[in-house]
Amino acid sequence: MKDQFEFDRHQMVEEQIIGRGLRDQRLLSAFESVPRHLFVPQEDRQLAYADGPLPIGLDQTISQPYIVALMTSLLKLEGNERVLEVGTGSGYQAAILSHLAGEVHTIEYLPQLAARAKQLLSGYLNVFCHVGDGSLGWQESAPYDGIIVTAAAPETPQVLLDQLKDDGRLVIPIGRRGYQKLELWTRRGDKFDCDELIEVAFVPLRGEYGW
Ligand code: SAM
Repeated sequence: MKDQFEFDRHQMVEEQIIGRGLRDQRLLSAFESVPRHLFVPQEDRQLAYADGPLPIGLDQTISQPYIVALMTSLLKLEGNERVLEVGTGSGYQAAILSHLAGEVHTIEYLPQLAARAKQLLSGYLNVFCHVGDGSLGWQESAPYDGIIVTAAAPETPQVLLDQLKDDGRLVIPIGRRGYQKLELWTRRGDKFDCDELIEVAFVPLRGEYGW
């Protein structure tokens, strides 16, 4: 029998993800599988499948499910890729990516959040958690097929673009505090194409190429 969380999760997928036009079956299965309620603070579990971001402590957030889905879908993952996530936060996005890529590296600036996420992600054997300034990427495991930055930067750090493989894709919110546009960058040899997508509001990226 389905429990309430499974029921809510299925509804989240139907209404918030399929309802907004994302229909890739692998993506939808990942969202059906990952128990988002385990990645939010205990007192907010009943809200885990609601259509919005939630606080996770230290002024940080777990992103809205649809935004996680949209950013993930933009990487066009088929299963064998190596990806980098900048901004582990709760660990939820990394858990989703682990279902869709071969190897996931995720880096978090705040050691306290990184430690909690690492524990939650311990069963996700293809996820590797790092602590540090992800505005510099994670050179040790580069190059990547895809990079997702889940905090907002004033402009796209070239050092991140340089860690992409040829044809690799980078998704990043760029703009000012409280208002950004999601940008999708694609590497073509030594050139980088950029598409501006929807308006978003992410917490600020810290570190060398953040705020
Ligand atoms: N992806 C996360 C999730 O699934 O819960 C949501 C991330 S939250 C919107 C943004 C995260 O980026 C915060 O945890 C913040 O501490 C982190 N962050 C900010 N600047 C960073 C940096 N330079 N390097 C790594 N992480 C950073």
